[in-house]
Amino acid sequence: MPHIENSPWTVPVAQVASRPGQSKQIDADFPAPSGIGDEVIGVKEGEPVHVNGSFDSIVDGLILNASINAPVHAECTRCLKPIKRDWTTHVTAFFPYKDERDNRNQPDEVDIIAGEEESEDTYPLFDNGAFANLEALLRDTLVDELPLQPLCREDCRGLCSQCGVDLNENPDHVHETTDIRFAGLADLKAKLESEQQG
Ligand SMILES: [Zn+2]
Ligand SMILES: [Zn+2]
Repeated sequence: MPHIENSPWTVPVAQVASRPGQSKQIDADFPAPSGIGDEVIGVKEGEPVHVNGSFDSIVDGLILNASINAPVHAECTRCLKPIKRDWTTHVTAFFPYKDERDNRNQPDEVDIIAGEEESEDTYPLFDNGAFANLEALLRDTLVDELPLQPLCREDCRGLCSQCGVDLNENPDHVHETTDIRFAGLADLKAKLESEQQG
């Protein structure tokens, strides 16, 4: 990141990074980074992602505690209706003064701890602790938090497996043997009509 000050995800933290016990509130919108989900489910690049929390300085770095609110677009897995909803998630991240990952190009594998409800990740500071950058943090957090099986509502009834009718709008919709009887009547009607004509 050559021009860290110009990045829309940069937060100046020099004030709090000067000594432990400081706190800097953050309550702002950041543009959604690219690469969060896809057309079916995700957050569109540039959509406002709200971050509300604080950077708190400890001896060896800054801790960010924040809630992240992002407009996720998705499709209901049962009825295929588009869902547009704000997803809120909580993040705790550590920004160490000294980046121990300097010589590593791979993302920290320790970050991938399965089944944790809150992600706790580590991100570098820039310019000797003057700036934090939230781009990677927002991307990682939102990608992790995308619902795998989004539903338009908890009790979505989905679509009729036989004809595709939306069962939310047609709660009484059923296929009964009447279909077969109607088919029989139609046959009979056709037969009678052909006899009348002949
Ligand atoms: Zn649905
Ligand atoms: Zn049906």
